[in-house]
Amino acid sequence: MNQQIASDTVVSVRPELPYVEMSGFENLSDDERAVQDAMHKFARDVMRPAGIAIDRLSAEQVIKPGSAYWEFMAAAASAGIGFDIDSGDMPPQELARLQAIVIEEFGWGDAGLSVSMLAGAFPNLVAKRSGNQELIELTTGKLGAWIATQPDRGSDGTMLYPGERHSLAPKGNKGNLVAKVSGGDIVINGQSSAWVSNGPVAQVAILSIATDYGEGFFDDEGHPHGIEIIVPLDLPGVSRGKPLEKLGKRALPQGELFFDNVKVPLRYAVSQGDSYWRGHAATWSTAGVAMGPMMTGVARGAFELALEYVHERRQGGALLADHQMVQSRLGAMARKVEMMRAVAHRATDYSSRSPAKHPYYTAAAKVTCTDLAFEVADEALQLFGGYGLSREYPMEKLFRDARAARIEDGENHVLNMKFGYLNSMLYRNGQLRS
Ligand SMILES: Cc1cc2nc3c(=O)[nH]c(=O)nc-3n(C[C@H](O)[C@H](O)[C@H](O)COP(=O)(O)OP(=O)(O)OC[C@H]3O[C@@H](n4cnc5c(N)ncnc54)[C@H](O)[C@@H]3O)c2cc1C
Repeated sequence: MNQQIASDTVVSVRPELPYVEMSGFENLSDDERAVQDAMHKFARDVMRPAGIAIDRLSAEQVIKPGSAYWEFMAAAASAGIGFDIDSGDMPPQELARLQAIVIEEFGWGDAGLSVSMLAGAFPNLVAKRSGNQELIELTTGKLGAWIATQPDRGSDGTMLYPGERHSLAPKGNKGNLVAKVSGGDIVINGQSSAWVSNGPVAQVAILSIATDYGEGFFDDEGHPHGIEIIVPLDLPGVSRGKPLEKLGKRALPQGELFFDNVKVPLRYAVSQGDSYWRGHAATWSTAGVAMGPMMTGVARGAFELALEYVHERRQGGALLADHQMVQSRLGAMARKVEMMRAVAHRATDYSSRSPAKHPYYTAAAKVTCTDLAFEVADEALQLFGGYGLSREYPMEKLFRDARAARIEDGENHVLNMKFGYLNSMLYRNGQLRS
């Protein structure tokens, strides 16, 4: 009921609607909102249409010169848009917030293209972390990839501690792509998995692989030695397989790389010997933490489409949005998007400011966000009814993109197990006992 206070003033006695940002129930600073708006414009006008167009192409067509993929990469480069945010002297806490805000918009635009941009920037980000000027120059302006998994070494490559190995396994798994270090050189042989993001298109890669430093591949505990190396992919001995056809994130080119006696100088290593596993952990944590905000963007995109649809579609004599069952389902979805954003921001902040970050924690945030993104995309598709399955609507693509993320950057069951293992290690170390 409205109260008439003066003839021309109407004051509602109902609670006013809450303040929301474009991204929901949070308060952004003016600067953050300006960046979010700019990134959203790019995501809406450039990224999303490109992602939908590329999704329809075969994997071979995606990587052909002049394709919509290359047009998108050129547009992003000329707009100066990417994962390497120029932070100036911004305090780490503010930078972490901004990173999560920007990456959420990328995910809203297209998850596959987001991963392509992230992988593309990755060798350069790691080179900068190492402070090695030669490697920074070698990777600047080059499209990158991160080569960690191999045909016979998927989840095993994420096994940071010997104690995670099955009790019957005497040794870890060195996989099918290995290095030998001798004198001042590293010689690389074998092949990557077909899942390497940007595999068919990258110009430079960071490899994280088992290594023989002269006394075999394994240490006294049967754990593989390793090395992280930056490798230009135009070196003699590097070749590529066919780009991979797959279910989701089809805008992301993926494929195998083969290395036949590829020689690089030892100074291209960014972590080696005893520092390898720590380096690998830091690299993986850097990659994994981006998955949270990215998949928050995917889920938000799916939720928004469903919200729009239920305000158009009528069944049971009313708009879907007017049915209480639908309101309940919308509430559950919106709650999950809020939860994802909170977890994604917390993990981004923790990993940028903690004195020692850890990939099993960022992986846990990744599991939360990717599982929830899948639930939201699944329910959004369900709200579209049969139209949700149709290629006429964008829902089925978001569903496929969300599905892929539960395997990408570590399979979720395995990552869950690792977070449990990490908590157990902390407990045995006298921590987590309040
Ligand atoms: C979209 C996408 C992008 C990717 N990008 C990259 C990339 O840029 N670079 C790269 O190197 N790789 C990349 N990958 C590969 C990805 O990291 C692997 O697919 C993932 O780590 C799982 O490895 P796998 O596929 O070999 O599965 P497997 O490790 O073979 O797992 C198969 C099943 O076995 C279970 N399992 C595995 N180990 C255990 C265990 N110890 N105990 C119990 N169960 C177990 C798992 O839960 C899973 O269900 C990408 C993958 C996807 C989907």
